[in-house]
Amino acid sequence: MLSDTIAAISTAVGESGIAVIRISGPEAITEVGRLFRSKTKLEDADSHTVHYGFIIDPNSNEKLEEVLVSVFRAPRSFTTEDVVEISTHGGIISVKRVMDLLLEQREIRLAEPGEFTKRAFLNGRIDLTQAEAVIDLIRSKSDRAFSVALKQVEGDLSRKITSLRYTLVETLAHIEVNIDYPEHDVESMTMEFIRNKCAEVTEGIEQLLKNANQGKILREGITTAIVGRPNVGKSSLLNALARENKAIVTDIPGTTRDVIEEFVTINNIPLKLLDTAGIRETMDIVEQIGVERSKAAVNEADLILLVLNSADLLHEDEIKLMEQLKGRPTIVLLNKIDLPQQLDRDVVSRYFPKEAIVELSVKTSEGLDHLEEAISQLFFGGKLESGDLTYVSNVRHIALLKQAKKSLADAYEATEMGVPIDILQIDVRLAWEQLGEVIGDSAPDALIDQIFSQFCLGK
Ligand code: GDP
Ligand code: ZN
Repeated sequence: MLSDTIAAISTAVGESGIAVIRISGPEAITEVGRLFRSKTKLEDADSHTVHYGFIIDPNSNEKLEEVLVSVFRAPRSFTTEDVVEISTHGGIISVKRVMDLLLEQREIRLAEPGEFTKRAFLNGRIDLTQAEAVIDLIRSKSDRAFSVALKQVEGDLSRKITSLRYTLVETLAHIEVNIDYPEHDVESMTMEFIRNKCAEVTEGIEQLLKNANQGKILREGITTAIVGRPNVGKSSLLNALARENKAIVTDIPGTTRDVIEEFVTINNIPLKLLDTAGIRETMDIVEQIGVERSKAAVNEADLILLVLNSADLLHEDEIKLMEQLKGRPTIVLLNKIDLPQQLDRDVVSRYFPKEAIVELSVKTSEGLDHLEEAISQLFFGGKLESGDLTYVSNVRHIALLKQAKKSLADAYEATEMGVPIDILQIDVRLAWEQLGEVIGDSAPDALIDQIFSQFCLGK
C-alpha cells in the first residue's frame, strides 16, 4: 500500500506566470495546512475548493510566498488520494523556496517521476493505457497527436480492449460449462461458437492494428531526411517548411542533449527532422559527408525528400543517389521551377515510377502545397482527417495485440483440428491475458472471478 505523501513541481521549471506544486497522500492536507495561513483552515476545507493565503516558514514565521491552494479530497482526485495543489508565482526562486520547505516536513518526500500517475493507476482510477497516454499527452507535438492521446486518456482504447475481453470471457465460460457438463453433448455447437467468437475478436484486434502505423507516426513524427547535391535548395526548403508551418521546437526531458530534434507540422502530420550535429548542417547530408556515408542516415529515415534542381542537368552524383534510394519511401522534389528548365524528367520518372514527383519553387512557394499533399498521401492514404481517433500508437500495445491475434489464430486452428476443448481453451485464455496486459490487468484471480460471475448468470 502506498501510504506516504509525495510532492513535486508539476509545471515546467523556469520563468513563467505561475508554477504549481502538487502534493498527494494521506498527510497532504495536514502538512500543507501547517504551513499555510489564510481565512479558512485547510483541514476544514471542502473538496474542490481554492484558498488564497500565504506560505509561512514555521521556524521564522516569515511569509515565504503569496499562493493559491486547491484541495481535492480522496477519492475525488487524480491519484484518488488527498491532493493539494499550491499555485505560486512562477519564478524559479519562489517555487524552490516553497518546495524546499515542503520537503523539510517529516511526512513529505519528493515524488519519483511519474509517481502521481502511477498512483492513479495502482489505486485503480486509470488503467495502463490511460497512464501511458498521459505521457503522450505531455509530449504530443501536433494538435492531432494531442487529440489522439486525449482520447486514450479518456479511456477510449481501454473500452475497446475491455469489450473484446468480455467476448473472450463469454467464450471461456461457455467452454467451462462444456467441460463440467460433457453429458449435455454440446461439443459441436461449442466448436462453432468458439470459432465465431475467435473470428469476432480477431477482427476487433485487426481494426485496432490497422491504424497502428499512423498512430505511431502521429506520436513520434516522421523521421525525415532532406537529401540532394549542394545548392539545390535543401536549406531553403527546410526554412520554408518551418516558417510556413510554425515549427514547434520541442525539448523533451530525458532525451540526450546532443540529439537535436526539430518538428515541423504539415497538415497535422509531424515531421521529425533530426540528427546529432544540428539541423542546418545535417540536412545537407550529401554535401557534409558525401554520397557513400549519407547511406546510413537515409536508411534510418521514414521519409526521404530528394531535392533536385530542375534548372540544371542531372549530375552524376544524383544518378548514384537515385540508385541508392530505390525502394525507399521517397518523394522527389524538382525545385526551382521559376527558372528556365533543363532537367530531364523522363530519367527521374524511370528511377521513381511510383513515387510522387513534385514540381515546386521554394523561392516563390509554388507547389509547396503539393508536397504537403504528397506526404499525407504517402503515410495516410490521404485519409488522415476522417473519423476515428482511436489509434494504437504504443509499441507495447502493438506487440501485445499481435500476440493476442496469434493466440486466437491458434485456438481457431485447434477447433478445426479436433483438439480437445480443454486444450484449446488455453489459447483463448492466453489471448484474454495478453489483451489484459495492454490495460494492465491480467491477474488470474480476475479471470476466475469473471468466469464465476458468468456461471451464476448462466445457471
Ligand atoms: P542547399 O545547398 O541545397 O541547402 O541549397 P540552399 O537552400 O542553400 O539554396 C541554394 C541557392 O538556391 C540559394 O541561393 C537559394 O536562394 C536558391 N534557391 C533555393 N530554392 C530556389 C528556388 O526555388 N528558385 C530559385 N530561383 N532559387 C532557389
Ligand atoms: Zn544547405
